[in-house]
Amino acid sequence: MFHLDGKLIDLPPRSRYWYDLIPLSLKPLAARLSALLPRGRVLTSAAQLAAYGADGLGYKNYLPDAVVLPADAEELVRFMRGTKSLGLPVVMRGAGTSLSGGPVAVQGGIIVHTSALRAVREINAEGFWCEVESGVTLNDLDAILKPHGVFYPPDPSSGPVCTLGGNVASNAGGAHCFRYGVTSNYILGVEAVLLDGSVHRFGGPAGGRGPWREDWKRFMIGSEGTLAAFTRFWLRLLPLPEKVWTFRATYPDLRTTESAIHALVAHSSYPAAIEMLDPRGVAMVESSQMACGLPEGSFLLLVEIDGPAALVDARVAPVSEILRQAGALDVMFSEEDTIRKKLWKARKAAGGLLGQLSPSYVVQDAVIPKRALAEVLQLVYDEADAAGIRAVNVFHAGDGNLHPNFLFDSRLPGDLEKVERISKRLMERVIEVGGTLSGEHGIGNDKSGYMPLVFGPDSMRLQLAVPAAFNPAHQMNPLKVFDCRRFAS
Ligand SMILES: Cc1cc2nc3c(=O)[nH]c(=O)nc-3n(C[C@H](O)[C@H](O)[C@H](O)COP(=O)(O)OP(=O)(O)OC[C@H]3O[C@@H](n4cnc5c(N)ncnc54)[C@H](O)[C@@H]3O)c2cc1C
Repeated sequence: MFHLDGKLIDLPPRSRYWYDLIPLSLKPLAARLSALLPRGRVLTSAAQLAAYGADGLGYKNYLPDAVVLPADAEELVRFMRGTKSLGLPVVMRGAGTSLSGGPVAVQGGIIVHTSALRAVREINAEGFWCEVESGVTLNDLDAILKPHGVFYPPDPSSGPVCTLGGNVASNAGGAHCFRYGVTSNYILGVEAVLLDGSVHRFGGPAGGRGPWREDWKRFMIGSEGTLAAFTRFWLRLLPLPEKVWTFRATYPDLRTTESAIHALVAHSSYPAAIEMLDPRGVAMVESSQMACGLPEGSFLLLVEIDGPAALVDARVAPVSEILRQAGALDVMFSEEDTIRKKLWKARKAAGGLLGQLSPSYVVQDAVIPKRALAEVLQLVYDEADAAGIRAVNVFHAGDGNLHPNFLFDSRLPGDLEKVERISKRLMERVIEVGGTLSGEHGIGNDKSGYMPLVFGPDSMRLQLAVPAAFNPAHQMNPLKVFDCRRFAS
C-alpha cells in the first residue's frame, strides 16, 4: 500500500515503478518535465539555470524554475500540450541577446530554448523565399544563402548569434534596414504552436494567399513571445547586390554631422545604411586595441550604398561630395572588401567594447524624428553628466533609431536608479518630440512601464485583447510588453 494525499493506493506486487502512480501534478518539476521531454533536454540544476537568468541587458537576473531544449518541433508541441498542467509561465528564448528584458523568466517558470530547431529546410532562389526553423542564427542563414545569389536583408548587429525566432518576435532592425526595412517586411509566413499544443500556419511561401489563408502573421511579428512559440518561418529574399561601397566620414560637431545625415536621407542615391558613433564612442574605440586613428572629439558617420555596379559606381562621387560639403574632417571610401571591413571597424567594435568597459550597461532604444536628434542627444549628455553616469551613443542614424548606452555598476547602491531616472526622462522627451518607445529592441519588461506614456486606456485595452485571445491566462511570457500581464496560476 502507498499513502498518497490522504488515500491508500494499492501498488502492483513488487512494483519497481510505484513512482509512476503518483499523479503528474504532484511530482517535482523535473520529473513532470521529464514526462514531456527526454531527460537530457530538461535542465533544473542551479548551475544550468544561472546561464538563463538574464538577457543582453545582463544586470537584471530572474532565475527560471527549469529550462527545456526541445530537439524538434514535435517535442516542442508535446511540451506545449503539457504546459497547462504545469501551471507555470512559459518563456521562449532564442540566443538571449534581447536588450529589453524579453526572454527572461520575470515571474519564474520554464524557459524554452530553441537552439536545436536550426534546420534551413528549403531555399527557393527562383521564387525568392526560404523556409527556416526558428533557432537558425542570422549569420548562418546569410552564409547558406550567399551561394544562391540571394540574401535576407534584416541585419541586427547581434547577427553571429541571434536567432530568426528572436528577430521575428522582436521585429528586429539593423544597419541596412534604413533602405531595406525591418524584419516584418520579409516574413511571408509563421508556423506557431499555441499553449494547447495546436499548430497554426499564418501565411506561407505565398504570403497570406493560397492554401494558407489565415493571414495573422502580422499579429505574431513583434509579439515578444506573448502569443505563441514559433517553430518555422517562410522568409522573403532579395537578389544579392552586385556591388557595395562603404564610406567613413568624421565631423567636428553634431551640427555638421546632422546636416550630412539630412542631405544623405534626401538624396536619390538612397544609402542602404547610415550609422553614427558619437565622440565618446570614438574616444572609447581609440583608447582600446581596436583604435583606427579617428580624430579626437569627432563624430563618425558610416554610410553604405549598394546595387547594380554601374548604378552604384555612378553614385560614389555625389555621396562623397555630400559628406564633404556638410563639413567633414575627412572622408574615406572603398569597394574593396578588406578596406570596407577596416572602415566598419570602429562602428562594429563599439558594441563589444561597451560590455568590456563597464560591469553593467543599458542600451536604450527609441525612435525620434531626425530633426530632433541634436536636442535629444543633448538631453542624454546633460542628464548622464549630471548623474555622473557615462553615456555613449552608437546608432542607426538614418532611420532615427537612437541607442544611448549608459555605463554603470549595478553593484553600487543608487547607480541603477540613476540610469532608470535618466531613461525615463529620455523616454518622456522622445514622446514629446513625436518619437516612440522602441525602434527595434522591443518593449520586454525594461520598457513596459513607459507604455502609458504613448498609449491611452482605450488603446491599451484593445492591444491587451490580442494576447488575451491567444493566451487568456497570460502564461506566455508574463509581465512583458504590458506590466499588467501577470500569470495567475
Ligand atoms: C551586441 C548586440 C547588438 C544588437 N544589435 C541589434 C540591432 O542592430 N538591431 C536589433 O533589432 N536588435 C539588436 N540587438 C538586440 C537583439 O539581438 C535582437 O532583439 C534579436 O532579435 C534577439 O534575438 P535572440 O535570438 O537573441 O532572441 P531572445 O533574446 O532569445 O528573445 C527575444 C524575444 O523573442 C522571443 N522569442 C525568441 N524565440 C522565440 C520563438 N521561437 N517563438 C516565440 N518567441 C520567441 C523571446 O521570448 C523574447 O521576447 C542587439 C543585441 C546585442 C547584444
